[in-house]
Amino acid sequence: MDIRTSSRTVGFTESVIREMTRLAMEHDAINLAQGFPDFAAPEDVKAAARRAIDLDLNQYPITWGELELREAIAAKYERTYGMAVDPERQVCVTCGSTEAMISSILGILDPGDEVVIFEPYYENYGPDTILAGAVPRYVTLHPPDWTFDQGELRTAFGERTRGIIINTPNNPTGKVFSREELELVAELCGRWGVVAFTDEIYEHITYDGAVHVPPATIPGLEDRTVTISALSKTYAVTGWRVGWAVAPPELVDGIRKVHDFLTVGAPTPLQHAGVTALGLPEAYYEQTAREYAERRALMMEILGVTGFEASPPRGAYYVMAGIGHLGLGSDVDVAEHMVQHVGVAVVPGSSFFSEPEPGRDVVRFSFCKRLETLREAGARLRKLVP
Ligand code: GLN
Repeated sequence: MDIRTSSRTVGFTESVIREMTRLAMEHDAINLAQGFPDFAAPEDVKAAARRAIDLDLNQYPITWGELELREAIAAKYERTYGMAVDPERQVCVTCGSTEAMISSILGILDPGDEVVIFEPYYENYGPDTILAGAVPRYVTLHPPDWTFDQGELRTAFGERTRGIIINTPNNPTGKVFSREELELVAELCGRWGVVAFTDEIYEHITYDGAVHVPPATIPGLEDRTVTISALSKTYAVTGWRVGWAVAPPELVDGIRKVHDFLTVGAPTPLQHAGVTALGLPEAYYEQTAREYAERRALMMEILGVTGFEASPPRGAYYVMAGIGHLGLGSDVDVAEHMVQHVGVAVVPGSSFFSEPEPGRDVVRFSFCKRLETLREAGARLRKLVP
């Protein structure tokens, strides 16, 4: 054959998470695989989107984001975390946090640069680094608390390290990185001249009093952090594709260049609706967290009665659960069996590891669903155990 794909696509496969959504649809299974809500977005936010379309805000946005949205992003970081963000020079609005991460990595790292990644990790970070020609250095998070060994983190840093990816609250483990852990990261980033790329998409979803600490608020990290988040999870609009990267101007320059040529911009009317979303009162975030706590409690109860061994996550909306009691084979076998014969889709654990072995005896459940959806999933899962 004289046609082929580029060698840069050879090192990774298509997303298993998104493949599970396809299979869930094919088998009419409840989708506890890909993490997207099945409940309504806030009415005010939807109305703002409709209004923006009616006002004909339907042409290209400013490539790095409509000014009103950049101002709303800056104001929210100031209000919520006391972070000073210049909307003119420190923000790049992107097509979701997915694009924010890959544009940031492509805009800041060179081929051969090393990137520290905590493992298990959200699967996109693998292809993100491969497409940039960067070299991942994995540091293990150990269950049940998903702690890491300080010595292992220290030895992962060296002359070639240029980046570290920190996803807090974490997908898939639910870990919420503590201030002390982030201070160690700050020390190492300062010593080795490293940029922190932080995925904080679950910033408003924490449990049991766990507090989200944005790495950029840690002394030493404020001038070397790319803070990434999006409307998607906080406001239940994952399909809108509106996210952002916030960083020092020197770094934003590189991110904006890549972003401009990749996508030009995120959807204009939805950026305007984002201004309304980011302006919602504190009560909205409190209610969101309360509702997620109910979903988590129900998910843990279902896993308990069906014998899946799991510890409650401290943040985000996923739980890694052991499958040893089923006797149905590997994580992939179990995920296939469940989607086809039980009617519940989950993600095989190995999707979150660089080598499949450590993920072979777990699957990931996402519980960002209505309680009735979770109850129905629970009823189906009971078929798995006698
Ligand atoms: N973060 C979501 C998950 O892990 C998926 C996001 C996406 O598919 N873009 O399921």
